[in-house]
Amino acid sequence: MVDPQGVILTIDGPAGTGKTSAATQLAARLGLEVLDTGSMYRAATLVAIEQEIDITDGGAIAQAIEQAHIGFDWTQQPPRICIGDRDVSDRIRELDVSSAVSIVSAHKAIRDVMVERQRDIATAHPGLVTEGRDQGSVVFPNATARFFLAADVGVRVKRRAHQMEEAGKPISESAIRENIESRDQIDTSRTEAPLRCPPGAIIVDTSKLSLAEVVDVLEKESRAVLDRS
Ligand code: C5P
Repeated sequence: MVDPQGVILTIDGPAGTGKTSAATQLAARLGLEVLDTGSMYRAATLVAIEQEIDITDGGAIAQAIEQAHIGFDWTQQPPRICIGDRDVSDRIRELDVSSAVSIVSAHKAIRDVMVERQRDIATAHPGLVTEGRDQGSVVFPNATARFFLAADVGVRVKRRAHQMEEAGKPISESAIRENIESRDQIDTSRTEAPLRCPPGAIIVDTSKLSLAEVVDVLEKESRAVLDRS
């Protein structure tokens, strides 16, 4: 266990590199809490889909999410994401949300809302492992330690296919590849907070590592930084 006060560990990287699983296990090993920021953008996308708002209309979606009460149930580990009191953690992994989320998350009006909420969450939950696309580069540039996960696209496709099968919602590898490649392209080329490896981040290529091996590396590096601080 580490003293959580003021500790923020960020994990960024493209889709399917294992960020969510690695962040959850790292947090458990260090006695910290975990924040999956992708789920916030996914919940915003679900609000747009359900309210039939045009996904290119960032202003209208930002207004809708202000009223939709997107939040986490922090009594669960990892926390579950809810819209109002409806748990949407499984629903937001479905292909309709995955196909639209990068278009929704590219809007400045939506990112402004989410970044503010993420910083508020960090204040309310001191001692946080947070993962996404911009956590180390934009939201918490002064984080205690910053990580960037990478992996070959073929490996990422197989991992995501396996996850969806485990969840009882199998999707073909070709549909997953199309989704991952399209999201990577939009996420890295957008104007607002494009996906980048933050300067000074520790890069971990997870292609040939098991989840436990990835978490071993993250834990060792985090403890080394925490021992020095
Ligand atoms: O992490 P996950 O794959 O669930 O994220 C879904 C999408 O949300 C990403 O493809 C990206 O468009 C967006 N996202 C983002 N910034 C974050 C986290 C996710 O733009 N911090």
